[in-house]
Amino acid sequence: MSEHDDGSSHHHPRPLSAAALRAQAIEALLAEKGLLASDAIDKIVEIYTRDIGPLNGARVVARAWSDAGYKQRLLRDGTAAIAELGFGGLQGEHMVVVENTPRVHNVVCCTLCSCYPWPVLGLPPSWYKSFEYRARIVREPRAVLRELGLELPATVEVRVWDSSAEVRYMVLPERPPGSEGLSEAELSALVTRDAMIGVARALSPKR
Ligand code: FE
Repeated sequence: MSEHDDGSSHHHPRPLSAAALRAQAIEALLAEKGLLASDAIDKIVEIYTRDIGPLNGARVVARAWSDAGYKQRLLRDGTAAIAELGFGGLQGEHMVVVENTPRVHNVVCCTLCSCYPWPVLGLPPSWYKSFEYRARIVREPRAVLRELGLELPATVEVRVWDSSAEVRYMVLPERPPGSEGLSEAELSALVTRDAMIGVARALSPKR
């Protein structure tokens, strides 16, 4: 098995990275000095999780839906195409984007811990890190997806992508019906974090 490097290393048989140790030390020191309340830290994490990260990924998807050349580059070299929009860095050094089609549905996991593409999706949701998801999504992906509200026809092939320290995956969801003629900004509003993990479809446009 390859090593995983996602900063949440309690499942890992090796010490925290220097960067993670520094972050923990700084957080502890600031909290001790009363300079930063831990709920403020939680708030920052929440903003990063909910807003900043997934929004970046949504912009990538909206661009791919709008620009066939970009989509081609994205599927060929995810890291480079994502960097075209200014996103990259920690936990996104080697990005692979996998495309959902009417025949193939992709879903992302990390069976060992919680490796996740931070630059495009932010921080992983807690269920993504749960032992249950990590264990079951590989064994019985259709059942897990159904429980999460995504029923797939038997004719659709399900592919599960196990992230690692080297490679982080992102799903390019199918462009929803009825979204013709929408602007890139309008399209990006249809792209949820869960759609880019592959446990949901992109939202349908409101009429
Ligand atoms: Fe991992």
